Amino acid sequence: MSVAATDTPLSPSVQQFLATDHTMLIDGNWVTALSGQTFSTLNPATGETMCQIPEGQQGDIDLAVRAARRAFDQGAWRKLTASERGKLIWKLADLMESRLEDFAQLESLDNGKPVAIARVADVPLAIDLFRYMAGWATKIEGHTIPISVPNAPGAQFHAYTLREPVGVVGQIIPWNFPLLMAAWKLGPALAVGCTIILKPAEQTPLSALLLGQLFCEAGFPPGVVNIVTGFGETAGAALAAHPDVDKVAFTGSTEVGKLILHAASGNLKKVTLELGGKSPTLVLADADLESSIPGVANAIFFNHGQCCCAGSRIYAEKSIFDKVVAGVADQAKQIKIGPGMDTQTDMGPLVSEEQQQRVLGYLEAGMNEGAKAITGGGRVGERGYFIEPTVLVNTNQSMKVIQEEIFGPVVCAEPFTDLEEVVAKANGSIYGLAASIWTKDIGKAHRLAAQLRAGTVWINCHNIFDAALPFGGYKQSGWGREMGHDALELYTEKKAVCIQV
Ligand code: ADP
Repeated sequence: MSVAATDTPLSPSVQQFLATDHTMLIDGNWVTALSGQTFSTLNPATGETMCQIPEGQQGDIDLAVRAARRAFDQGAWRKLTASERGKLIWKLADLMESRLEDFAQLESLDNGKPVAIARVADVPLAIDLFRYMAGWATKIEGHTIPISVPNAPGAQFHAYTLREPVGVVGQIIPWNFPLLMAAWKLGPALAVGCTIILKPAEQTPLSALLLGQLFCEAGFPPGVVNIVTGFGETAGAALAAHPDVDKVAFTGSTEVGKLILHAASGNLKKVTLELGGKSPTLVLADADLESSIPGVANAIFFNHGQCCCAGSRIYAEKSIFDKVVAGVADQAKQIKIGPGMDTQTDMGPLVSEEQQQRVLGYLEAGMNEGAKAITGGGRVGERGYFIEPTVLVNTNQSMKVIQEEIFGPVVCAEPFTDLEEVVAKANGSIYGLAASIWTKDIGKAHRLAAQLRAGTVWINCHNIFDAALPFGGYKQSGWGREMGHDALELYTEKKAVCIQV
């Protein structure tokens, strides 16, 4: 175990957790991978190994799918009432709350994010999501439908619909919000009565494994939640392709989303995808710059820009452009960079060396194409995967840095002169996940909101999430929605029942 020196003492239970020989959860048992192989999980602040994690592959996924199938078809899960299901989910949330500090520390150690942020954002939002979904367990309803049946004159029918769980679900999640993404996926699936195989990202498996312990402690029947750790190309691909999985839910890159879709086609499993983004932030001349500038800076720099909805393209009206750019650059310069476990840190390392290299590659490509860094533009230090918060100008719509998702603390800023032009630029992307509009003119705000092709439009705010608010993408940002009642529907099948009376 190797942890950078910081001012946050590791909690005794986190110390113990890091020191254990990790296993994964299949059918209520904690097991090693069938192959006996393991992989390292690293501390991105130092690049050093923290612990070894079982490397699940096809055979382990098979076992987990069989367990989930049994739990779905015949297990105790099926016999629980909706109210009992809801109570269990709520109990899980209570247990998570009692381990809030442990989750926050693991999230910071594994992902690099500031522990102070994990304490107030990642972990509480995950807990809240489970509580919101616990309430829904008893409210999954169908309808009665008056039918006429023109070709059966005189006959009478009673018809209604049932909402039933889709079945065994494979859930593949990314590393940027490891616990929160697990909650977004697990919460609605459990509320409606599905059983699950969760595959956390190989970069950040720790919080999912702790969550697995709490599922056992809460009393979820064996096989309802299985957690298989491993790599995307092996464990993830096996899950996406498995013929006995009824649905796969994925959050990650658009590129991998397309692979998932292809893999899922073998048995036509249902698919939901929450993919990449290149979200614009539109700053109008009448905006309150005192709040908009920090808002726009936070839209990109929150979580080190490793958010699928990061506000990575600023379009500011020409008359205020210089002021906005200078202001955002000033915010960037004030960001304190350091290990996530240091409470003084505003921005930790990126999650991995691969990610650091990827961001540096984009910075180089941007400069080669003529972009200019007003601030930032490189890595920080020699140890760990840190990147300077960066503001680029002199960009245009054809550049890679404008068109492709960088997934790091890099924002491009361009001026605009009229609203039609900015709508065309904002929508000129293969992505359509989110956007924000900064203005005091409420009429303009609504008109723009209607014209933006994005699953979420924030006005005078960005990165605001709530368990009740659906989140997902237009265009190549995905299929379906997370959270809210939309997410529940996507874990159900609708059955029509028709009785001749
Ligand atoms: P990133 O590129 O940001 O690391 P990915 O989309 O590669 O994000 O990864 C998100 C999740 O998808 C991770 O859990 C990863 O293991 C998984 N994954 C990666 N490749 C595949 C694949 N070919 N099939 C299924 N899952 C995959």
